[in-house]
Amino acid sequence: VNPREILLQRLVAADERAAVAGHDLEDVRLARSDASADDEHDPEGSTLSEDWSRLDGLARAADSQRTAILAALQRIEDGTYGICISCGRPIGAERLEARPEAATCIECARQLER
Ligand SMILES: [Zn+2]
Repeated sequence: VNPREILLQRLVAADERAAVAGHDLEDVRLARSDASADDEHDPEGSTLSEDWSRLDGLARAADSQRTAILAALQRIEDGTYGICISCGRPIGAERLEARPEAATCIECARQLER
């Protein structure tokens, strides 16, 4: 399978998720400004904050995935796709299948998480 096509599909999906989250964030922002105009201690305010953090998390996740996918597409251009940017060893096929935009091999990813 062509990794470029998979990455492009994932890029479209990430764009959509970012757009949906951005749109919902705007709704929450509007609802929140309405709520605070009425009463700053509106109990609904806390629900809106929860919505906000959840959507903001989604938007950020979509955005960072988008960045990772673009970087992976660039590595295809450069001919370094599938090579760990940290240790220079090949990234396992299973890992690339699960996360085609992965920039590091599983060992390096585990170390980075620590
Ligand atoms: Zn590595």
